[in-house]
Amino acid sequence: MIEQDWVTGSVVLSISGEPVEMELTVPAFPVKPQRMLPIFQQMTSAVVDMCASTVESEGLAVSCKAGCGACCRQAVPISEVEAYHLAEIVNEMPEPRRTEVRRRFAAALEHFRKIAWFDKLVGLKDMSHADEADFSPKQFMDTVLSYFHENIACPFLEDESCSIHPDRPLICREYLVTSPAANCSSPSPESIRRVPIFLKPSKAMLKVGRTANTEGISSLMLIEALDFVERHADDFEEKSGERWAADLFGELANTTIPETSEAAERPSMLD
Ligand code: SF4
Repeated sequence: MIEQDWVTGSVVLSISGEPVEMELTVPAFPVKPQRMLPIFQQMTSAVVDMCASTVESEGLAVSCKAGCGACCRQAVPISEVEAYHLAEIVNEMPEPRRTEVRRRFAAALEHFRKIAWFDKLVGLKDMSHADEADFSPKQFMDTVLSYFHENIACPFLEDESCSIHPDRPLICREYLVTSPAANCSSPSPESIRRVPIFLKPSKAMLKVGRTANTEGISSLMLIEALDFVERHADDFEEKSGERWAADLFGELANTTIPETSEAAERPSMLD
């Protein structure tokens, strides 16, 4: 098989009970999962657009727009594959931007390690997974939200806009609100109304391509991406594009979570 071989197929997803057909063109030859990300990003954006159209048809308007980066101060969980993709983007930046972005990553990571934010989060997640009676969902949400209150912007946020917008993680694509934009600078469950996303490719992506390098890590945060990639050589296997797509859609089918109104209103990417 030669590298130029690509195959096109269609997939039908059900969003709000409506069938949505998508055509995907994927490599027929073996590739690392990073190579599939542009296709998965496109698919995620199509799903999110459908969900946004649904709320718009109910008379609500999405308030997110360029120049409003309040939500980009939240904890952003990403997949292992996306960590390598983001590191590659940073590596390809021209100087002096590359050094500046690396500096922001290092400063953010140092800050959250210093205040033991990761330790608190991991401790609570462990309690949740172990079904410990002392686990408090409120304490968990408060810890997630406390990240925002440190007011540390995402290293990619410039002039309150995403400087890597076409390459932004799947979870960033899935975060849209219909509540007033001003409310995002002080988010609370009462003030934020999220657009319900009925299929979450970001959640499916957490499992696709995952290697032993992330065993024992419950959430890899965006600000950990460069540090993680520096400490772990890329260990991804190669599969055909069709296989990677089948893996993602298989996970998507299992991770389809009907949004409760409570989950839809949480002002956090980490739900
Ligand atoms: S990657 Fe872009 S959209 Fe996502 S949090 Fe960072 S600046 Fe915001």
